[in-house]
Amino acid sequence: MNKHTIIELLNNEQEQDKLFQSADAVRQQAVGDEVHLRGLIEFSNICRNNCLYCGIRKDNNLLRRYRMSPKEIVETARRAKELGFRTIVLQSGEDMWFEQKVMCGIIEKIKAFDVALTLSIGERSYEDYKAFRHAGADRYLMRIETTDQDLYHRLDPHMSWQHRYECLMMIKELGYELGSGILVGLPDQTIESIADDLLFLQSIEVDMAGIGPFIAHPHTPLKNAPNGPLDLALRTMAVMRLMLPDINIPATTAMESLHPQGRILALQSGANVVMPNVTEGEYRKLYELYPGKICVNDTPAHCQTCIGMKIMSIGRKIGAGYGGHNGRMPQDA
Ligand code: SAH
Repeated sequence: MNKHTIIELLNNEQEQDKLFQSADAVRQQAVGDEVHLRGLIEFSNICRNNCLYCGIRKDNNLLRRYRMSPKEIVETARRAKELGFRTIVLQSGEDMWFEQKVMCGIIEKIKAFDVALTLSIGERSYEDYKAFRHAGADRYLMRIETTDQDLYHRLDPHMSWQHRYECLMMIKELGYELGSGILVGLPDQTIESIADDLLFLQSIEVDMAGIGPFIAHPHTPLKNAPNGPLDLALRTMAVMRLMLPDINIPATTAMESLHPQGRILALQSGANVVMPNVTEGEYRKLYELYPGKICVNDTPAHCQTCIGMKIMSIGRKIGAGYGGHNGRMPQDA
């Protein structure tokens, strides 16, 4: 698909239902009706970065910070496995307390539960990525956020787009399944740049692409910016499905935060993955990337049942396997 066609599809609000139907049909053809669930553990909201859009940015002094202990993290993963999750995702701010040795210990213990393990902990050194992989991590998720480098450098001060890109290349080279993605509706982001984002994700051959709307957080410099439009985020996701028919595409939590049926709409417009939160207690509330985050008062078991029912109500089934791209199996730790 060329850039011109992508832009036309992204702009075509009138006929978006047709786009959603095509993406849904391509999804069914390429990856079937299974929806893969990933248990998401948000293990620390401490971050060294200052991304203007993000609620857990370093300079947000109004947020109470937490860091789960390695033991708590492993226990949470064990319970998620007992609930039936076959993939665990560990996500956090860039919290360097979790140095290489500490992370590797956590990874090894979780891998002993016979699950696929995804890390989403941001930019680290090549040595770290390598050690995490050897410890057993199977997948890595890091959004490029935007490929408009000027926009990136304005929104992510003191960070380098080039470096983030290089991290993605290291992750790929080390044999992880690579997840990346973007935010839709950032201030000053153009449709043309979203088209470039999609072409970028295609060119780096992502195994998974997470696409979510930007939601303005009141305790960030972007507090007065309008939220990203849900429809545009859905169209972006649907076009991604047409471009990369067999990859994993999550129905993102941010979509449901803008619309009570956001994830179901996404599952009917190209998505085939959901990442229910399995973080416990008040940590859920404190991992506030954006306001209005769903399920902050729920338990892991509740979230799993709730999304499971929704998935079955639209005639889909819960994935029985690990749900890797192209049926790829997790490595042994
Ligand atoms: N530190 C990790 C995890 C970041 S948080 C990393 O760098 O990859 C996960 C994702 O939340 C981010 O990549 C970003 O795309 C998204 N996010 C952050 N703030 C947001 C906001 N205000 N609205 C919607 N999504 C947001």
